[in-house]
Amino acid sequence: MAHLPTDDLLALDRAHVWHPYGPMPGTVTPYVVESASGVRLRLAQPVEGRTELVDGMSSWWAAVHGYGHPVLDAAVRDQLGRMSHVMFGGLTHEPAVRLAARLVEITPEPLQHVFLADSGSVAVEVAMKMCLQYWQSIGRPAKRRLLTWRGGYHGDTFHPMSVCDPQGGMHHLWGGVLPGQLFAPEPPAGFDAPLDEEYAAQFDALMARHADELAAVIVEPVVQGAGGMRFHSPAYLRMLRELCDRHGVLLVFDEIATGFGRSGALFAADHASVSPDVMCLGKSLTGGYLTMAAALCTSEIADGISKGEMPVLAHGPTFMGNPLAAAVANASIDLLLGQDWQVEVKRIETGLRAGLAGAAELPGVRDVRVLGAIGVVQLDHPVDMVAATAAAAREGVWLRPFRDLIYTMPPYVTGDEDVARIATAVTAAAVAG
Ligand SMILES: *Cc1c(COP(=O)(O)O)cnc(C)c1O
Repeated sequence: MAHLPTDDLLALDRAHVWHPYGPMPGTVTPYVVESASGVRLRLAQPVEGRTELVDGMSSWWAAVHGYGHPVLDAAVRDQLGRMSHVMFGGLTHEPAVRLAARLVEITPEPLQHVFLADSGSVAVEVAMKMCLQYWQSIGRPAKRRLLTWRGGYHGDTFHPMSVCDPQGGMHHLWGGVLPGQLFAPEPPAGFDAPLDEEYAAQFDALMARHADELAAVIVEPVVQGAGGMRFHSPAYLRMLRELCDRHGVLLVFDEIATGFGRSGALFAADHASVSPDVMCLGKSLTGGYLTMAAALCTSEIADGISKGEMPVLAHGPTFMGNPLAAAVANASIDLLLGQDWQVEVKRIETGLRAGLAGAAELPGVRDVRVLGAIGVVQLDHPVDMVAATAAAAREGVWLRPFRDLIYTMPPYVTGDEDVARIATAVTAAAVAG
C-alpha cells in the first residue's frame, strides 16, 4: 500500500471523515497514528516534540493487553488461515461456541445464554429487547419501561441513549424520539461509602410506584464511565438486586466498560457477589483487537422468550459471532486469566494513587479518585481539551479528557515507570486544562 503524505491524510480526514462526537469539517487536528506496540502509539509526525506516546486510554477501555501482543496476533492470524467470517444463521463454529461457553463459565452462575453482538450499543439494545420480550411473552406486555440512575452511559444508538444521563446524553434534543424512561438520582459517590438508607428508600418508593410498567433496571455497576467517571459502593448493587426481586423487575448490568478486571474484580458485579438477570460485555472482550460485544441472560428469561407468542429472540446482526473477533476474544480471556491479573491491576492502582495524590492540591481540581486500573482527576470547570491533550503529549502520554474530567485507564501491561509517567501527564493536563 502506498502511503499518504501526512498532510494529505489530514486534509482528507478533515474534509470527509466523521470522528466521535465531532463536527464536519473537523475543527481539531487529530494525531495520526502509524503503528502501535506494547503500550506505545507511534505517530506519523511529531506532536509536542514526541513521536511516541504511552497510551493512557487503552483505546477506550479495550486494549487491556496493549498493542501487537504476540499471543493475540497469533490468534488472529491462525483464525484468518481458516476463515475470517461466515454467517451465524444456520451455521456455527468453534471460536464462537468456545467463547460463549467461556463467558458462561466466568460470569455469575445464573447467566447461561449468550448473544454475540457486534458492538456495545447493540449488546445493550439486545439486553433491552430480551427484557421487554420476556415480559411480553409471559403475558405482562405493560412492563416495557426501564429505570436507571442518573449519570449513566449505555451507548449512542437510540434505546441505549434513552437510559444515558438525560443531561449528559442531551435528551432535550430528542423529545418525542427517545422512549421516556424513569430516572432515579445518581447513586451516592464513593466506593467505600456506606449505603445511604434514604437513597434506598427513595429508590424503593420509585420502583413501587412504577412496578407495573417496569421491565428492568439497567445500570453500570460500581463505575459509571463515560457518563462522568463516578464510583459507587457495591452495596447499591445488593440494594438493586433486592428491590428488583421484591418488585418483580429484571436487573441488567452493563459491564461493557467494567468487565475483565478494570475495577479490580473480574466483573464489577463480583464486588457485591450479585448476579444480574442480564449482563452486557464489550470493549476489552477482544483485548481491543476487533469489535464484538455480548449480552448474557438467565435461563428464566430465555425460556420465557422461547415459549412466547413469537418464540424466538428476533435479532441477528450480519457479523454476529464473527470468528476473527471470537478467536481473539478467546485468546484475550486465556491471556488475562492465565496470569495474576489482580496483581497487575492492584499495581497500577497503587501507582496511580501515588502519582495522582499531588493533583488534589491543585487549584481548579475538585476531586481525585482511583479504583482498580482507573484514575480520575475532576476539575471544577470544563476542561480545555486541546490544551490538556497537548500538555499530556508533552509528557509523552496520550489522554482524551472530556467535560470536567481528565482520566486514565491504562493497559494492564503498563510498567511502573510508564504508570508514573501517565500520572505526571494527568497532573500536567489538569494544570493546563
Ligand atoms: C462504551 C460503552 C457502551 C457502548 O459500546 P460501543 O461499543 O461504543 O457501542 C455501552 N455501555 C457502556 C457502559 C460503555 O462504556
